[in-house]
Amino acid sequence: MNIPLIDLKAQYKSIAEDLDRVTKEVLSSANYIMGKNVIEFEREFAEYIGVKHAISVANGTDALVIALKSLGIGNGDEVITSTFTYFASAEAISAVGATPVFVDVEKETFNIDPTKIEEKITNKTKAIIPVHIFGQCAKMDEINEIAKKHNLKIVEDAAQASGSKYKGKMAGTLGDAACFSFFPTKNLSCAGDGGMIVTNDDNIATIAKALRTHGSGETGQKAYNLLNNINDEIETSKDGDDTVYNALKYYNYLIGFNSRLDAIQAAILRVKLPHLDDWNSRRREVAKIYNEKLKDSNVVVPTVDEENETIYHQYVLQCENREDMINKLKENGIATGVYYPVPLHLQKVYKDLGYKEGDMPVAEYLSHRTFAIPVYPELTENEINYIVENIKA
Ligand SMILES: *Cc1c(COP(=O)(O)O)cnc(C)c1O
Repeated sequence: MNIPLIDLKAQYKSIAEDLDRVTKEVLSSANYIMGKNVIEFEREFAEYIGVKHAISVANGTDALVIALKSLGIGNGDEVITSTFTYFASAEAISAVGATPVFVDVEKETFNIDPTKIEEKITNKTKAIIPVHIFGQCAKMDEINEIAKKHNLKIVEDAAQASGSKYKGKMAGTLGDAACFSFFPTKNLSCAGDGGMIVTNDDNIATIAKALRTHGSGETGQKAYNLLNNINDEIETSKDGDDTVYNALKYYNYLIGFNSRLDAIQAAILRVKLPHLDDWNSRRREVAKIYNEKLKDSNVVVPTVDEENETIYHQYVLQCENREDMINKLKENGIATGVYYPVPLHLQKVYKDLGYKEGDMPVAEYLSHRTFAIPVYPELTENEINYIVENIKA
């Protein structure tokens, strides 16, 4: 048997007719940037999450960068995040000119440990980015309480948590803004790169919309005024010269980005979104079988807090001799993934921040022991049993 970590071909086959039809429609329409599919997908995603605004962007990393910039975070600021996450969570902080401040995680949930956040807060701290790692929400009540007490903003990194819930509330509704990724391996994915910022805050939405298209036009002007506390009237047209089509488009107010979701990706995501809840429940079913069959073996199964409904972006086990384990599984055709082998406080690029080995013992412990096994919705009973037998052996 040959079992990949994720089977995107199986997913494609299950909805091929719809995907082929909508991509053809976009191709023949020749409307490739913004337009109907992008606007509709933003509306549908906002409705699914239960938020006022959804602003699509080119990828999940840009979503984080633009969300931070929309909150006015930049040079000289500090932003707290987990050390046990994908690099982009911290990279986005650095990209806006701020400094990432790392916090260790909980051994059970792999999520940022709220009891270790307050000791990291300084007078430069502006925000916290909790990462809902492997699809399980971080302890948001505790984190929100700390943020409120110290007047900090919260940007959820929900890249791995499309459809995940915390105390009955959707990931994406638990902070000031939240960021999603539609990278092909994520639970809701497109056929390339894609991302989304969601928020209930009108100002964040306006600034994010402006930043994704070069800070230009009417939205750019509104965003400029918001960021600089200016109450001037918005100019809606430039008088005099009508020779330039949509003159406002060529007036730039901010240094922004070119970071839009392609129309073709939006069309694909509109096909997939209605399937997301079913796919996520199937992942939970697969995980439940693993939990039962592996609980008395010599691997540690993942813990899910009672208040959480996780979506198992990854199903992550721990064992003492990881290298042997993944080599044996590989020999028998079972793919695994190691998330994450290097905690971010020990990444070379951050050596100037002064962290050293031993600073974050839990993340360091986990980084030597965790490995992910296949948990995608299309896995068959046979394949699940085969994986279980091989792990036990
Ligand atoms: C995937 C991911 C991102 C980045 O998303 P991209 O779309 O790949 O840019 C950020 N944070 C986490 C936790 C992720 O898993």
